[in-house]
Formats: sequence, structure tokens, C-alpha cells
Amino acid sequence: MLKKFSSLLLGFSFVFLFISCNVENPEITTKELNDHIQYLASDSLKGRYPGTEESRLAANYIKDNFNKGGLKSIGDQGFQKFLVVTAITAGDHNTLQFDDKKGVLNTDFAPFAYTKNDSLNAEVVFVGYGFSIDNDKIKWDDYAQVDVKGKWVLILMGDPETEDPESPFAQFAGERDKVVTAKDKGAAGVLFVNGPVFDKGDKLIGLNFDKTRSNAGIPVIHLKREFADQFLENKRIEELEKLANDKRSSISFASGKSLVATTDVKQQKVETENVLVFIEGNELKDEIIVLGAHWDHLGLGGPNSGSRMPDTIAVHYGADDNASGVAGIIEVAEKIAQQKNLKRSVLVIAFGAEEMGLLGSSYFTNNPLFELKQLKAMVNLDMIGRLKEDHSIMISGTGTSVESEDLLKQLNADSTFSIGMSPEGFGASDHASFYAKDVPVFFLSTGAHEDYHTPFDQADRINLEGAKSIADYTYDLMMNLINRDSNLTFQEAGPKQRASGSRRYKITLGIMPNFTSAENNGLGVDGVRKGGPAEGAGMKKGDLIVAINGLPVSNIYEYMSRLNKLEAGTTVTVDVMRNGEKLVLLVHL
Ligand SMILES: [Zn+2]
Repeated sequence: MLKKFSSLLLGFSFVFLFISCNVENPEITTKELNDHIQYLASDSLKGRYPGTEESRLAANYIKDNFNKGGLKSIGDQGFQKFLVVTAITAGDHNTLQFDDKKGVLNTDFAPFAYTKNDSLNAEVVFVGYGFSIDNDKIKWDDYAQVDVKGKWVLILMGDPETEDPESPFAQFAGERDKVVTAKDKGAAGVLFVNGPVFDKGDKLIGLNFDKTRSNAGIPVIHLKREFADQFLENKRIEELEKLANDKRSSISFASGKSLVATTDVKQQKVETENVLVFIEGNELKDEIIVLGAHWDHLGLGGPNSGSRMPDTIAVHYGADDNASGVAGIIEVAEKIAQQKNLKRSVLVIAFGAEEMGLLGSSYFTNNPLFELKQLKAMVNLDMIGRLKEDHSIMISGTGTSVESEDLLKQLNADSTFSIGMSPEGFGASDHASFYAKDVPVFFLSTGAHEDYHTPFDQADRINLEGAKSIADYTYDLMMNLINRDSNLTFQEAGPKQRASGSRRYKITLGIMPNFTSAENNGLGVDGVRKGGPAEGAGMKKGDLIVAINGLPVSNIYEYMSRLNKLEAGTTVTVDVMRNGEKLVLLVHL
């Protein structure tokens, strides 16, 4: 009883102290930053995955702390809610039939996650591996001798050297690529089947969600081997796979049989939110400076989560990514709110679903609550918790206004930081959504590291003094943007969006790889092209690339094969060895 009473009393005085603290000491302190990071990156928030109960705790915590700092909530009671797709499931209308044989969903077939929902009744043409390759090493066209226009094509999964990751076929083995080829050749639908060499157990992988939201434009279905065998009558998939592997050229033929199928997939959606507060200015209150940081992270990780350890299901704490940035904007905003006579207004946003593809920020810029032309600049903090001894920070978007570079240098006159500036407005975080709408942007970060997107991105590894120094710098930058005489002059700096289109762009890092090494310890970098993606990420001549996106690279072949799986416009992690030390670089392709 007594114990309860005294703790209640203690609780009261604590709250009292806390409130008075906020009023009298708006300074940014390491203690406050630490409190926010410790909570947001605690076990109990389970990695802040969008749509979860824990993610709601995070969003509420941020809103409450904004309000405690005297900031006024706007939007729908402080939130801006939106839906995100987290999985693809089969709908009720999937059918598959030939003659009088009906396929059973998930037993005989499954639609692919990126299928178009459609019906097709057409002849089936078997096209082997579905290749149309003409390069120095391989000449193989499965479409040369058959007419597939308006028909189903039946395609073997994988390639003739499935077991060999260094195979020159590997880059053509992806299902997405095969679908694009089939479509280019005029096919109206694609049926995939596993040969026993590719997958003895014949698992249907159709509904795996690879996070791409676009559909293939035609129905795409995964068939069980046994079902395909019935269909092909006297030819078995096992024999056809063997024949293709032995012959190393096309074994295509028209089956003379029709198949009718309907595909029906549904997007599983959850609601998540941005958290918003507003500080009204005076003289130029219709002009708005935006301060933002994303609050979401990877949850428990797992395949397709963005985790660099996709086989490990564990809390991905996201202390640096991006509890640190959120702590930063809470404290910077609180300090700004204490200042009198702000010229312009300030909009502070904690974005949701950044890790799923900048979804919160792009939702905001497409539903901006204000007129877009009122937004005069945007400052984004993402991963500010790992300042190294050399005090190097990265600021991107420095080319998006005429004045940015000079301004940043002037604010760093005491050389607190060694600033690596990168002009592009597009990039791997939420500022990109604002740049796409012609807003000058600043993206501040201490950069990637070994623990990036792993369960080891933990609160006790944060450099709090470093985070505080960046928050102080951000405050100075914000105050300049809020009170300066004239606004920044926007200018374009690089493409405004991720490259899109059905065909993949040829990916390069912009390095000269060492082709001659016979060692299997990585890929040597013999040179770095000026202005290329690798240079932008800080790669240097003499570095040894040992992994891309967490997948090992032990030689030139693995390097090429990893490269081929990447998409233009995305950001990848590249692990390099330099002077015996492992560094993780974020390369924007
Ligand atoms: Zn991240």
C-alpha cells in the first residue's frame, strides 16, 4: 500500500518536473534523444512494422511527444492514414481446366502474386526455358520456331545450370524476365512449371510477394508438374527438362491443346499513418518549411522484408534506422516551437511505411493538406545515430537549390562535420517524394554500417553525442530556412523518380572491376567512374566488394549475377573491404 502510494507520488513529481523541463529547457539533449530511441527501438515495439499494434504505439508516442513539446497536431487528430499492401492472397475465382480435367487451387496450381486478374482460353505452346538470348556466350531462342501470339506459353522454371550461381544463364532465369520475354513475343498468358532438377519437391511459389506493386499485364500461373504431365500426354516435364539441359537449345513445340484459366489475386492491405504537427509562422506564415523522418522499420524481418539477414526472424530494432531521425525531429521541432517571431511556418512529419518504398511521404505529397507550392524546402533525417570518429556526414540533395551548398558550408563554418555532399534530389529516403514535386531537399545521414537492416541496429550502439550534434546542425539549418530573406531557388538535380517500365535497365555501379583475379575472396575495384553511383556512395579504387544486398560476392561471376538481379532506381548495400576493415556503402543505382 505504502509502496504504491509513494510511487504514485513520485510519478506525479516526475511528470511535473518533465513539463517544467520542457518549458525552461528547450535545448536538445542527449538524454531526451536517448529516451526516444530507447523506447522506439525497444523489444516491446517489435521493429515498428506498418499496421501492427506495436506500430500504433510508436505513432502515438511520437504524437504525444510532439504535443508535450508544445506542437499542435494537424490532420486527422494528428495523423494522416493510408493503406499499404503487405501480402498477396488468392481470391475466390481461380480456375484452371483442360478437357474435363479441373485443377485444384494450391494443389495443382497457384497464380503468381503479380498476375493480371483475367481469364484466358487459348492453346498452350511449350517453350522450354522461355529464353530469347543472343549474346557472346549464348545463342538460344525458344520462340524462333513457334507462334505464341494470343496463346499460353508453358515455361520451365530456372535454367540449364540451376545449381551454378556463376552460370551465364543465371541472369535470364528469373520468372519476371521470362514473363517480359513471353509478353514481348505476343503470348497472352504464362504457365510456369518446376522440372525435378530445379525443384524435386515441386513447391508452388506463385503467391510470394516481392513487393513490386505492378502486375505483369497477362495471367501468370504456377502449375504442378503432375498436372502439366497429364496435359502434355506422352511427354513428361522431367524428360523435357533433361532434354533442354542436354541439348542446350530450343525444344519448343505447340501442344495442340487448349487450356482455360481464370486468375484472381487480392492485395492484403493494412492501415498505417504519418504523424503531423504544425508550427505557425508570422510574416510569411503561408510559406512552409518541412522537417521529416520516417518512424517505421522492418518488424521481425524475414524474406522480402528488406532485411539483410532475411533468414533470421528476430526484432529488427531500427535504432539508427530510423528511431534516431525521429528523436532528432521531435527535439528539433520542440526547440523551434520555443522561438518567437518565426517568419515562415513549419510542418513536421514522422512518415510511415518508408521501408516499403517511401509510401508515407509519397502519400503525403499526393495528399499534401496544403498547396504544394507553399512547401519551400524539406529537411529529412534518416539514420543520424552512427557518427564516426572522422565526423563525416552525408547530405544529399545539395544540388536541388542554387543556394544549398553555400548555406550548408556556412552553417558548418566551425567544421564540426566533414560533409560529403551529393547533389541528387532522388534517393533512398522520404526527401525523394518532395524533390519529385520540385521542393528543394536536404537529406542528412551518418550513412550505412554493418548493422544496417539487421537485428543488430540497436539502441546501445547509437552515438548520442553525434546524434545531438546533427540535431543541433539541423536546428540551425531549419532556422535559416524559416527566417531567411528569400526562399531557396529550386533547380533540378538528377531524375525525379525511380526508373520504371517493363524492361530492366542495364545496371552498372560505375566501377572498373578486376577481371583477372583468380582469388575467391571478393571482387577487386580497379577504378571508380567519376559521377557514377559507386563514387557517389564513397567507393574507392582498391576496395574489395564482398557482398551486394547481403549476398556474398566472391568473384566476378557472382558479381555479375548479383548485379543482374538489381533494379535501376533502387538503393543497394555493397559491403567492401578497405585496409582490412569492412565498410557498408549505400549505392543508389
Ligand atoms: Zn531503412
